[in-house]
Amino acid sequence: MTPMLRRIGLWMGIGGLLILTDCRKRKKEDPQPPGINLFTVEDDLKLGAQVGQQIESNPQQYPILDSAQYSVAYAHLYRMRDSLLRTGKLQYADRFPWRIRIIRDDNTLNAFCAPGGYIYFYTGIIKYLNNEAELMGVLGHEMAHADRRHVTQLLTQAYGVQTLLNLITGNNPGLLGEIASNLLLLSFSRDHERDADAHSVIYLCPTSYPADAAAQFFTYIQQQGGTRPPAFLSTHPDPGERIRNIRTKAQELNCTGNQTYDARYAQLKASLP
Ligand SMILES: [Zn+2]
Repeated sequence: MTPMLRRIGLWMGIGGLLILTDCRKRKKEDPQPPGINLFTVEDDLKLGAQVGQQIESNPQQYPILDSAQYSVAYAHLYRMRDSLLRTGKLQYADRFPWRIRIIRDDNTLNAFCAPGGYIYFYTGIIKYLNNEAELMGVLGHEMAHADRRHVTQLLTQAYGVQTLLNLITGNNPGLLGEIASNLLLLSFSRDHERDADAHSVIYLCPTSYPADAAAQFFTYIQQQGGTRPPAFLSTHPDPGERIRNIRTKAQELNCTGNQTYDARYAQLKASLP
């Protein structure tokens, strides 16, 4: 067995151990991420940087609002992000850059976060929501996908050990770029969505916002009935189940925040083009 294979074996052993530990004593507040992950945190950072570079060098498809010209909008989003990072509930609060960019497209009700904490909001979702708490719920959900390293978990499942071995040993130096270019096509599993919803509650709980704020978005989707849910919800557990899970989680944790900051949110919306 080569040292590298032993290393992989060790990782898989540790992964198996984590899964066992997970079943036996999963803590209510901090469930283990679903699935094992053979990538390093450094890989998450590299992948995110590459995806960010792809997005931000393609203004046709991703017209990014200039952060100096729209400094008021960015200041609101940075303040919201920082209040989540200060809760102490994110494992990589200090390690990931948590870069935020706004994409100008009022017709897209979406937000997403690439690995390593590269967050993108479409103007459509900011304008669609009614107060800052609702956007915090979405932000918490997206930051959870990055902090819980869901993408590299998915890639561990999708690419298999041999491919990852090539990546680690440098036998296929172009692979990381190849993976990065396909990243935006990946969709999360239901387990990842449930995990991100639960962590949105965990992150918001110590703040003055209602911890179940992410549920509000799903009530709008339910009320709309027949219309197609936004892309980032389409493959997910049904909205009713998500609302119940989110509210139950907030009750379990005895979260007491109740501020929605409507006036501040109106300022954010007014600062957008
Ligand atoms: Zn999600």
